Amino acid sequence: MLWMAQRHGIYLDYAATTPVDPEVRAAMAPFLAEEFGNPGSVHHYGQAARAAVDDARRAVAALVGAGPREIVFTSGATEANNAAILGVVFAHGPAQTHLITAATEHHAVLEPCRWAERLGAAVTVLPVDGDGLVDPDAVRRAIRPQTRLISLMHGNNEIGTLGPVAEVAAVARAHGVLVHTDATQSAGIVPLDVATLGVDLLSLSAHKRYGPKGVGALYVRAGVRLEPLLHGGSQEHGRRGGTEPVPAIVGFGVAARLAAARLADDAARLGCLRDRLAAGLAALPGARINGHPTRRLPGIVSVSFEDADSESLLLALDLEGVAASSGSACTSGSLEPSHVIVALGLPPALAAGTLRFSLGRPTTEAEVDHVLALLPRILASVRRLPARRA
Ligand code: PMP
Repeated sequence: MLWMAQRHGIYLDYAATTPVDPEVRAAMAPFLAEEFGNPGSVHHYGQAARAAVDDARRAVAALVGAGPREIVFTSGATEANNAAILGVVFAHGPAQTHLITAATEHHAVLEPCRWAERLGAAVTVLPVDGDGLVDPDAVRRAIRPQTRLISLMHGNNEIGTLGPVAEVAAVARAHGVLVHTDATQSAGIVPLDVATLGVDLLSLSAHKRYGPKGVGALYVRAGVRLEPLLHGGSQEHGRRGGTEPVPAIVGFGVAARLAAARLADDAARLGCLRDRLAAGLAALPGARINGHPTRRLPGIVSVSFEDADSESLLLALDLEGVAASSGSACTSGSLEPSHVIVALGLPPALAAGTLRFSLGRPTTEAEVDHVLALLPRILASVRRLPARRA
């Protein structure tokens, strides 16, 4: 299968985004051409578009064990997270709302919480342990009479730790509190079922799983009170106004079906490659592997190197044709260690030398071995540079 004919090099940044699967691209193509109808139209152009959106909705719902009417298409996980958090805040009124979240959440959760705080809501951000886990007992102790929502991510995008979402959801349910989970990095790569997890709201994004950018979804359990973010048309059962991006939604549907069909194979293969990479990295001088040793995503390895800074390492790797990341793509470009690595309690000098390698369906053992062979030389050259951090 031809994934990326136009570019060369080794791409190990699949947690930032993935290439669009050729099958996804092929399924989208007619909807960028002759199938251009608006799903809201009554005529047969509209009916064809409506049928395609409905079919994609069934596929995305099935990926997480939801009912199709519980899926709201969004522009991505950022919007889904905002819609979940602010939707609860506006449904109850900021002054009557307390939110609980964790220090290692993506900015797309932390920032809407901060915005809610500026609007008058109360927010508790819980710490994590050295592996990135929140303590469900700490969640229990943080619950107040006005706690409306707990937002706790499923798979961490920087360190790969899988959060205790089911345990926290059980605590929340006992107190009548809603639970949202950001499953952007885990859906379609680890088995995930909204009923088993016990969550009320769950965010997804297509482009992390070989679908197109600009589309995602929010699972909203039937009966959950949520104020829409986008007021306008009555699309998405009145939960999100705006003409549906039909080509992107069709692509998301196919990507979701492919992810479900390949989940077991992908997880096993990526798990082996990750272990190989993590073992090789751990053997390098002054290296520390971050994240939980067993409760973790199959495709992500975070490593911190003593006496090295992430940016120099990334640039040196890029010169060798290797694409990695210092953490989440959204915070790269800054020399500050990411809030996730800081929350683990790493000493600043170690946190400053953090790299994230994330593996995907096209990754091969030869690519992993090539990167491991390059790193001793790259580390030695970077460690000779004058320190760049403050
Ligand atoms: N949450 C997590 C955990 C992510 O990794 C990302 C992507 N970096 C997002 C949310 C944002 O997703 P999107 O790009 O679809 O807005």
